[in-house]
Amino acid sequence: MNFTKRTLENLAGLNAKARAKLEPFVTAAQEAMAAHGVKVEVISGLRSWAKQAELYAQGRTRPGNIVTKAKPGSSWHNYGLAIDLGLFKDGQYIDSENPRLADKLYQELGKLAAAQGIDWAGTWKSFPEGPHFQITFGLTLAQARSQMERNGQDVQKLLF
Ligand SMILES: [Zn+2]
Repeated sequence: MNFTKRTLENLAGLNAKARAKLEPFVTAAQEAMAAHGVKVEVISGLRSWAKQAELYAQGRTRPGNIVTKAKPGSSWHNYGLAIDLGLFKDGQYIDSENPRLADKLYQELGKLAAAQGIDWAGTWKSFPEGPHFQITFGLTLAQARSQMERNGQDVQKLLF
């Protein structure tokens, strides 16, 4: 199954070792969702620390709903180790159009992810995020953060 331009761009920014695990997962997710008539895109991948600061401000010091609990450097997106999937049916974003269906589909994707050693944020106790998947290779955020400070924030230079 082919990837859209948006998916390709978001996969391209990932740490290469993470991409090697996440890309086959996205393919498997596309195949699983096709059975429901649902298209899958990677709608977010690597997110710069500056962009993360902007998102964190949303719903706090800027208008809008809170969309993340993560400050810059606290999201695995900031290390190129995480993706958010978007599920679309008849061109509509299912999360907005039919949250109950979205929940059900993310549950299925969560199981698929677990089988491939990928973490799904839908099971997180605080701020569960159905669309969010990541692979951290045992790295802690503190370790990742200190590596990024030393390597000029180059996600390709992360050591696992
Ligand atoms: Zn995410």
